[in-house]
Amino acid sequence: AIQLCWLRNDLRCTDNQALWHASQQGPVVAVWLISGDTWKAHDDAPVKIDFWLRNLRELGLSLATLNIPLRIIDVGTWSHCAEALLELASQLNAQGLFFNDEYGIHEQARDAEVERKFQHAGLDCRRFTDQLLFAPTSLKTQAGTPFKVFSQFRRQAYAQLHSHLPACLPAPQRQSALPLTSDTPPAQLDDFPAASPLQQQLWPAGEAAAQQRLEQFCHDALMDYHATRDRPDLQGTSQLSPYLVSGILSVRQCLHAALRVNQGEFASGSPGAVAWINELLWREFYKYILVNFPRVSRHRAFRPATEAIPWRNDPAALEAWQQGRTGFPIIDAAMRQLATTGWMHNRLRMLCAMFLSKNLLLDWRSGERWFMRQLIDGDLAANNGGWQWSASTGTDAAPYFRLFNPISQARKFDPQGDFIRQWVSELANTPTVSIHAPQPDSLLKDNDYPAPIIDLASSRERALTAFRELATP
Ligand code: FAD
Repeated sequence: AIQLCWLRNDLRCTDNQALWHASQQGPVVAVWLISGDTWKAHDDAPVKIDFWLRNLRELGLSLATLNIPLRIIDVGTWSHCAEALLELASQLNAQGLFFNDEYGIHEQARDAEVERKFQHAGLDCRRFTDQLLFAPTSLKTQAGTPFKVFSQFRRQAYAQLHSHLPACLPAPQRQSALPLTSDTPPAQLDDFPAASPLQQQLWPAGEAAAQQRLEQFCHDALMDYHATRDRPDLQGTSQLSPYLVSGILSVRQCLHAALRVNQGEFASGSPGAVAWINELLWREFYKYILVNFPRVSRHRAFRPATEAIPWRNDPAALEAWQQGRTGFPIIDAAMRQLATTGWMHNRLRMLCAMFLSKNLLLDWRSGERWFMRQLIDGDLAANNGGWQWSASTGTDAAPYFRLFNPISQARKFDPQGDFIRQWVSELANTPTVSIHAPQPDSLLKDNDYPAPIIDLASSRERALTAFRELATP
């Protein structure tokens, strides 16, 4: 009997747990649900939706070579998923539904409802851990509580990997052709403008492109990752995040690629490989936090006490930050990189998030939302985790008194100013000595690069006071 495989953020044939297991039970029909209203409510960026559609087209071609039809249904919102899937199951006389777990509270509620309704209709529903190396409830402290500190989480993660390294699955075998047609993904959806040609070129779709990027990174940059990962002016990181977030690539494939370079070691050997695997575990950790502390999925601070911070209301400052016109070149370069490419370097995400939440003392949630609306790799767990880390409201976050100074950070991590020159055209001809903190009188008269919108020293004091008052009520 036919098995349905409901694809979501797992748009690949190889090492796809649900797809492979479905293929072991009978002929598979893959299904994808368009849910524009929910995506909009979740602030999913148009550039990410475009990436999904482009990847879906590639996936449809790969599935066709395996004789797996792809059905696409527009359900509008997630509240209609269950009925659409049941209807399809009944049309095709399908016996079961296979899908991979997702971890936000809305995703979990959606999936629980689908599971309940399938079981009620007497149909099988099978779910798999696929996005993660470990099911989020499988790691616990000795007291049986969830970890809150990354280093402790990582210690147990290492132990688990030592005793049971998750393997990669192959693509399903080609099945006999079914008398069913496939749907072609739409080129574009209403309300979600297409990505720019530059964005499409920077982020090519398809599993082959993702695998090639992974191989190239492992070959060219992995060994030096620990030394170059903080340098936005170099190609020091993998830029695989969009592929991991949408599941064009699995975390197991990434881990195994790094292990191959590092002779099977994840905690010793090449410092570059160890540092990169460490980042894969941060990804794991933030999804773990999302599941075990669901308040962070509801826009609440991990540390409830920080909800009392007197965030300022300053629309002009927020807009200057969003538009990359703060007068701090590294912040502006980063925000423009985000707007133009849909991606931002990790060091800069931390700098921009700290600048907003500390120096501007604006609610971190306004920055989190802006990032989500722009990022091709927008992911609730990682974005929320990164914001709460930077704003010192999160688990294992930066201590509140450790504020990054955007000028000294720029000098350290973009020493020649090349990254700034690339993104801030007003500073394209500014010499290295002054590029990190240009004095207004050093710029040409018709140059409209803004003066700094705040004073670093006094805004730093303001943030420290706000946090200190929390610490000693
Ligand atoms: P690499 O350095 O090559 O790392 C490999 C992979 O590890 C990444 O692709 C990613 O999957 C994972 N990873 C790396 N760093 C982190 C981290 N700090 N937290 C979680 N996972 C990590 N990452 C997202 O995927 N989506 C987001 O929406 C997101 N928002 C962020 C917001 C803020 C404020 C901050 C500080 C970080 C955010 N990150 C987010 C984490 C990180 O910045 C990106 O994963 C990274 O920049 C992606 O680039 P890369 O693929 O070259 O990473």
